[in-house]
Amino acid sequence: MFSDEDLLPLSGLQHLAFCERQWALIHMEQEWAENVLTVEGKQLHEFVHEQGSGVRGGVRMVRGLRLRSLTLGLYGVADLVEFHPCGGEAALQGTALQGAAPPGTTPQGTSLHGLPGSWIPYPVEYKRGRKRYDRADETQLCAQALCLEEMLNVTVGQGAIYYGQPRRRSEITFVPELREAVAGLCRRARELYDARQMPPPKPGRHCANCSLENVCMPNLSKKDRSAKYVAGLLEEARS
Ligand code: SF4
Repeated sequence: MFSDEDLLPLSGLQHLAFCERQWALIHMEQEWAENVLTVEGKQLHEFVHEQGSGVRGGVRMVRGLRLRSLTLGLYGVADLVEFHPCGGEAALQGTALQGAAPPGTTPQGTSLHGLPGSWIPYPVEYKRGRKRYDRADETQLCAQALCLEEMLNVTVGQGAIYYGQPRRRSEITFVPELREAVAGLCRRARELYDARQMPPPKPGRHCANCSLENVCMPNLSKKDRSAKYVAGLLEEARS
């Protein structure tokens, strides 16, 4: 169990899943360079949080909900958490969230202050661009679900990522492999953080979408390693 002072930002998990060096530059070296992608992403999150909370079609919506997990050592903010009615009247009316619990389990809701019945949280994360080829967004959403489970003592089986291109939700089921991937990222983040270890660059296509390319200089570092290698060969030839 971690204490409040030891928590790491949940948002960092997507950076870590994307590139360990990017995570370390942001969260250990406090580097953050804005590019078009990060500016647009920030504006979208601000817009979502400004929408406030409310009710739509029997679903309670809470925006900007603070999250925390002392087990994983994470803190963060959810763009949107929907609370869907669970069982009872809601099920009869067909408004209960279908398949909210992982396959083979029974949906377990939580109570909401001043409201009857039980409710299943359903986190929704907003992304400005397209669905990514990696699982960085999914792990971030799953980490939010794990925080909600710990905070509310409830099972969160599914959530969604809203992508700006096209404007559509992609539903994510929090299967055991995804949960384990989140736990693994948390362990790795803690390892790097405790060791104050800066991972080497891993140049690749993903660098074109990295706001820290100018800080990281992945290709220069690559050249540096080549130069060291050549220097080593020359040294060997001399001896
Ligand atoms: S430029 Fe590439 S290697 Fe460097 S931090 Fe960004 S993604 Fe990682």
